[in-house]
Amino acid sequence: MEDLVRLKQTMLNITHELLSGCRFCVQIASDCDDRTPVHCVKYSGCAIPVQINAATCLSCQEYKKNAKRQEKPEIATSS
Ligand code: SF4
Repeated sequence: MEDLVRLKQTMLNITHELLSGCRFCVQIASDCDDRTPVHCVKYSGCAIPVQINAATCLSCQEYKKNAKRQEKPEIATSS
């Protein structure tokens, strides 16, 4: 039973890590038993988020686009 709880917590931590760069993600629930832990405003179309599950985020992949935007370009130096 402890292993299952630990696995759920690990999955939730991974979800947190993946979505930290998504501009549509408002909040992620801390309860690892929550089946829809992600609060997203992309699919609500307004400021009030809808709760979705991690599988929806994986298929949406908006977090990848935002992560690319956050990358800083390298600054070329001449010596
Ligand atoms: S569903 Fe898409 S837009 Fe919404 S939080 Fe997940 S990755 Fe971001």
